Amino acid sequence: MIAFLRLLARNRLALAGGVILLAVVLLALATPLLPLQAPNVTNTGNRFQPPLTPGHLLGTDHLGRDLLSRLMWGTRLSLAVGFAAATIAAVIGSAIGIVAGYFGGRTDNLIMRGVDMLMAFPYILLALAIVAALGPGLLNALIAVAAVNIPFFARNIRGITVGIAHKEFIDAARLAGKGHGRILLTEVLPNVVPVIVIAMSTTIGWMILETAGLSFLGLGSQPPQADLGSMLGEARSALITNPHTSVVPGVMIFVIVMSINLLGDGVRDALDPRLRSGALTRPRPATAVRREGPVPEGPGRGVLEVKSLETQFHVGSRVYRAVNEVSLGIAPGECLGLIGESGSGKSVTALSVMGLVASPPGVITGGAVYHAGEDLVGASHGRLRALRGDKVAYIFQDPLSTLHPLIRVGEQLAEAIRVHHPLPRSVLRARVLDLLKSVRIPNPEGRIDAFPHELSGGMRQRVGIAMALANEPELIIADEPTTALDVTVQAQILSLLDDLRRERGLAILFITHDFGVVAQMCDRVAVMYGGRIVEEGPTGDMLAAPAHPYTRRLIACVPELGGGRRALEAIPGLPPAVDDLPPGCAFAPRCDKAQEACRAAPVEMTGDGARRVRCLFPETGAEGAA
Ligand code: ADP
Ligand code: MG
Repeated sequence: MIAFLRLLARNRLALAGGVILLAVVLLALATPLLPLQAPNVTNTGNRFQPPLTPGHLLGTDHLGRDLLSRLMWGTRLSLAVGFAAATIAAVIGSAIGIVAGYFGGRTDNLIMRGVDMLMAFPYILLALAIVAALGPGLLNALIAVAAVNIPFFARNIRGITVGIAHKEFIDAARLAGKGHGRILLTEVLPNVVPVIVIAMSTTIGWMILETAGLSFLGLGSQPPQADLGSMLGEARSALITNPHTSVVPGVMIFVIVMSINLLGDGVRDALDPRLRSGALTRPRPATAVRREGPVPEGPGRGVLEVKSLETQFHVGSRVYRAVNEVSLGIAPGECLGLIGESGSGKSVTALSVMGLVASPPGVITGGAVYHAGEDLVGASHGRLRALRGDKVAYIFQDPLSTLHPLIRVGEQLAEAIRVHHPLPRSVLRARVLDLLKSVRIPNPEGRIDAFPHELSGGMRQRVGIAMALANEPELIIADEPTTALDVTVQAQILSLLDDLRRERGLAILFITHDFGVVAQMCDRVAVMYGGRIVEEGPTGDMLAAPAHPYTRRLIACVPELGGGRRALEAIPGLPPAVDDLPPGCAFAPRCDKAQEACRAAPVEMTGDGARRVRCLFPETGAEGAA
């Protein structure tokens, strides 16, 4: 609740709407206590007094009644009717929607066809018909407005309920012996309440308008009783001669509806969990860059040279240091493994290279990324876009979520090429076929027109690799490309990537959490922990003699086939939270060799260019073998 309010307050417009609405509601509640004149007492000798007349702050209307007093009482009535109508529509509509969505089948059909019939009539016409049948009057107007809004709630809530009615937790409740009534109240309802609140907050304003509309036509509140709509209606004949009588209620309706809608939009945004981590704005096209320190010096060898990269997430007052002083280099044709437990900052490092970290909340706060002599941190969005997918390509973990479900894979591959190299259709098709062949998809002529769901997981990942290869990149960043696949397919994909690398001289940054995969694929490895590189070196050396205790324990976690029985050592404890990193070595709390010095101050990288380690007490050969 507190988090919700804080998020709401961050949205300036919603906050302004909330404050104005609160003021109007408080004034409306306090109206009987204020020293106002009687709203319905006429004094025709005193008609059409302009605003600021002594005794009549806002002037008087065509019967000489005090406009201020009528405005306050009218606002009170309009608000009450609007809120009441919204509540009634929400309760009845949601109940109908939940029942229809939960029971489904014939019940659903019957109820929803009834709702559809209501929806088939034009909105206002239906309300007019209901009032005409019931007779004019404020209560009947309320009933009419509530009735025409019921289908809106019923449809919305049914849609949400259908989505959760077959979830496992509902089945579990049923297995536990709960009846339908209790399941609806305790399992389904809490899950749809946010949607009901959102739908209500965005429709109350509309309902106040509709009620005012009916009153304006003389079908709502009856004279002499004032509500905002009837005040407007009565002032209509004097619109030109005495505009203040129309402007006063008109401005009030405007203020109320605007503030409710702004607040409603804010509520919707704040309740949407997807927006909770980020700010309420759309992410920028490239990661924000705020480099405070000096930019590290120019490019060395290599396709990619990451120097002292720092990427953080700024969420509210918290700072998550996901990547700290990461330096990596990849030469042409080289495969560098980046390994570490989940949450160690591998993906954020990879995404930072091309400015793909969502911002807000992501910010690159230091370092540089050199590609072919050019610093990509702070490069323009246009420049980054020209490189993305062309010179530097990505392969992601889950191919099903990266392929568009409704577009044929051949078309998606063609699009990846077309973005950078506009070619005629026939040439594109031939290139796509070549790509599919090069990633060894069987029967590429048949598969080119398949949809992603018609392919197996391994084939989809091959399409993902084909897409990365589409523009013959110099560097491929593969973020756990085989984690979602079974071991045989994993082996095929790995050997495919390895062959492609040798054939085409590709450089690969291969991200994984599996040392077995690293041993098979990579020339060099960098081990990441708590957002830092803790050890780096050639794969063979590192596997034979890990220097950092964390590396040793990671290697000890990998089971060996045919290696005889050996106790697998899990690493005790959990990786650190990156918003609260310890001052010293991040691994110290889990390390059996940690000393006071490890915890006191940051540990520097030591060693020569090829083999580096960030540890005060590195493993010696004897311990490594133990
Ligand atoms: P992995 O090594 O498993 O790929 P990531 O690079 O995805 O890990 O994440 C590194 C750290 O950054 C994690 O601790 C994660 O909690 C944090 N992080 C990632 N995205 C966000 C975000 N949007 N807001 C706050 N923290 C984030
Ligand atoms: Mg990851």
